[in-house]
Amino acid sequence: MDADSFLKKHKLSSGSKVELISKGETFSGVLIPSLSPETVQLKLSSGYNAGFKLSEITSIKGFGEIKKEKTELKIIQKKGLPKILVLHTGGTIASKVDYSLGGVTASFAPEDLIALVPEITELAEIEAKQISNIMSEDMTFNYYKKISKELFEAMQKKYKGIIVAHGTDTLAYSSAAMSFAVENAGMPVLFVGSQRSPDRPSTDAAENLLNAVYFISKTDFAGIAICMHETISDGNAVILSGTKTRKMHTSRRDAFKPINDIPIARVNYHKNLIEYLKNNYSKKSNKKTELKNKFEEKIALMKLRPNLLPEEIDFYRKQKYKGLILEGTGMGHAPSNVKENLSNYEALKKLINSGTIVVMTSQCIYGRVYSEVYTNLRRLAEIGVIFAEDMLPETAFIKLSWCLGNNPKKAKEIFLQNIAGEFNERTPYEFKVE
Ligand code: GLU
Repeated sequence: MDADSFLKKHKLSSGSKVELISKGETFSGVLIPSLSPETVQLKLSSGYNAGFKLSEITSIKGFGEIKKEKTELKIIQKKGLPKILVLHTGGTIASKVDYSLGGVTASFAPEDLIALVPEITELAEIEAKQISNIMSEDMTFNYYKKISKELFEAMQKKYKGIIVAHGTDTLAYSSAAMSFAVENAGMPVLFVGSQRSPDRPSTDAAENLLNAVYFISKTDFAGIAICMHETISDGNAVILSGTKTRKMHTSRRDAFKPINDIPIARVNYHKNLIEYLKNNYSKKSNKKTELKNKFEEKIALMKLRPNLLPEEIDFYRKQKYKGLILEGTGMGHAPSNVKENLSNYEALKKLINSGTIVVMTSQCIYGRVYSEVYTNLRRLAEIGVIFAEDMLPETAFIKLSWCLGNNPKKAKEIFLQNIAGEFNERTPYEFKVE
């Protein structure tokens, strides 16, 4: 029997007050969601959480339910302001720790957003829709399909722009996916996340949302971008490219950095500031918005490092992968030059000859890969490895899967084109590192 059936049998569920006996000892507390099928989880009266193995529980009794808090908030949204749609996908930005239950609950209604950032009622009329409720490490290409469809449909309506609330871990993968999947976006779409949940005093959720709403309500930018803190302090947010941005810190509020790029704009609602840092940012055009949201699943991203074994490369050939992104060392090197590593070179050659598209990026993250600087690099280019300029490995992964999904015959050709500002042909002066 698993925890769910066990609790059902005893007519109990999360929120039930219980007393149980485990290994002869009596414990009382409130049931919270179990962490595994073999245990039930209690929030003890001491405030600590504890797990109890089903097999060790000799008795369990319920004493009613705890009252769940519900905030009634009457909010009148002003009419006549620009309309902004908030699409919730999940992640910390929409989650609050529910102290009574010890778990995390998600809040997706416009009321929740407005309670968090009341200032937005002066800037826009907010509509909100939940399209999923997952932590972003669980994203799959099916979710990309769903998000892009929602974006495409919303673009046919009279919104000034859209906010996609998203977990931060894979936010930049999703923004890259949408940059390719929704062609000629006719309005600003900003991905917004938060590193600290909205119920913590240090949360960045409110500021990120406020600056995103402010930017959307005023801007003529149209396209997919990210809006997050510029520094660790509140105040400035930056609007960052959907394809050239990376999460560079596990916990800092300024974790998102433009890579081989500069921000599109700096925003500060409190100072009425929108400062465009790029003058060639994309704007609404007459071109029709198109949805191209197929992503090939048989794509992998592999980090090259000392002691790479040829069977690792062979795996992708045997499993018939359609694409492989290599995160090479330095300028795009692979361990493939000396006697011990020649088998890696042969494995790569075989993989490419079997029809798999192999792309080289750099694990340095900053800078670009070169196919001509060293003989070693030329040898890789000669067997057909594509060098992805200064594209991020994650963006290359999403792009190749998108190219193969939407146009498998021309995937290689399309991969080499700059579709959504994902690479710079040359390294602009301002990105050169001394
Ligand atoms: N790992 C989770 C996610 O990316 C939580 C982190 C966050 O939302 O920032 O969804």
